[in-house]
Amino acid sequence: MLRVAVVGAGPAGSSAAETLAKAGIETYLFERKLDNAKPCGGAIPLCMVSEFELPPEIIDRRVTKMKMISPSNVEVNIGQTLKPDEYIGMCRREVLDGFMRDRAARLGAKLINGTVYQLDIPTTDREAYTLHYADHSNGTKTGEMKSLKVDLVIGADGANSRVAKAIEAGDYNYAIAFQERIRLPEAQMAYYEDLAEMYVGDDVSTDFYAWVFPKHDHVAVGTGTMKAHKATIKNLQAGIRARAAHRLVGGQIIKVEAHPIPEHPRPHRVRGRVALVGDAAGTVTKSSGEGIYFAAKSARMCAETIVAASNSGQRIPTEADLKRYLKLWDRKYGMTYKVLDLLQRVFYRSDATREAFVEMCSDIDVQRLTFDSYLYKTVVPSNPLVQMKITAKTIGSLLRGNALAP
Ligand SMILES: Cc1cc2nc3c(=O)[nH]c(=O)nc-3n(C[C@H](O)[C@H](O)[C@H](O)COP(=O)(O)OP(=O)(O)OC[C@H]3O[C@@H](n4cnc5c(N)ncnc54)[C@H](O)[C@@H]3O)c2cc1C
Repeated sequence: MLRVAVVGAGPAGSSAAETLAKAGIETYLFERKLDNAKPCGGAIPLCMVSEFELPPEIIDRRVTKMKMISPSNVEVNIGQTLKPDEYIGMCRREVLDGFMRDRAARLGAKLINGTVYQLDIPTTDREAYTLHYADHSNGTKTGEMKSLKVDLVIGADGANSRVAKAIEAGDYNYAIAFQERIRLPEAQMAYYEDLAEMYVGDDVSTDFYAWVFPKHDHVAVGTGTMKAHKATIKNLQAGIRARAAHRLVGGQIIKVEAHPIPEHPRPHRVRGRVALVGDAAGTVTKSSGEGIYFAAKSARMCAETIVAASNSGQRIPTEADLKRYLKLWDRKYGMTYKVLDLLQRVFYRSDATREAFVEMCSDIDVQRLTFDSYLYKTVVPSNPLVQMKITAKTIGSLLRGNALAP
């Protein structure tokens, strides 16, 4: 019978473990910190709520209004195209991760509160993998050293993945994202009831956008940059704090957090009987920096591939079997990654291109297309006339802002 270890119980690990356990496969889910609060904006698309059956209490805020704010502080309101039941979900990661992890355990995954330190790779196709880990169930940080033998490993241990290192999966470039959780006086918080803000400009992020996202009783204010220098990120955070200052008056910082965001997939995402999923594999999209849904989805797809290839745990899948998950993944989302990469290159080049970008966002057709692709992860081809209009608008906005000048 097949034994699978899933290392890391973020959205990726818990999704994989849930799918495996439901199929009756012997599954071990490792998480080093059961109260982990992953540094994250916590914005999730609507399709995640239905596909991953998330209950309403997981969602702190239902955002239906989004403000895009240009380098010269031109504000464009987007969200008019949303239907009454559509929204962007805002959640706290400690709540979302806790729910998904506990559900996987309830469905039969053996949850181990342990830090995996080492993975021994077997020399033959038949031998087991050995995980060495500190078991924290005795309540200590150092824990008790133990080991476990399994036939297959899923590395869902995030951007600093030890599993990726163990299989020499290769490195990726990464951005650093920084975030402050700020508790606001009631009147200020009311403004963010169902509204999120995205700021663009060299002062707030050289490569992406900065955000103010509402949560249960605070807002998350953050930014990211590929220039992973401590001073740079601090200056950019000061930039977003300055731009949003009038809306954050009287705010109190309750948490400061930072974490890497992978920029592209690792050179190897499957090696032997080890598969990487989520941030460990590098599934965050460019432009939007979105990773929660893609982590959960890649992990589910990987686990479904394992269930099918093993006949629900009756045989041990091979490297070729696992690689089928990559093929499916790249076929389904390859274009999404390419388009978002292109958008980032064109629109985040300079403040002039960012002004053009924000101007373009005022167009209803652009808003509809953007929201549909974000909320449902399906790029619905619009009719050719609308597509032509969007293309003309894009070029017009760029030319007006002289954004294409070298
Ligand atoms: C500041 C910031 C803001 C972001 N905002 C958004 C956003 O608004 N929306 C969005 O979609 N994405 C956002 N992202 C990206 C998103 O956070 C990630 O893509 C997502 O968390 C990836 O999920 P994962 O399960 O692959 O990895 P993770 O969430 O990193 O989970 C990995 C888990 O593995 C555990 N672990 C690690 N090593 C070990 C080990 N050795 N042994 C045992 N356990 C281990 C960790 O404790 C953790 O629980 C943001 C990222 C950052 C940094």
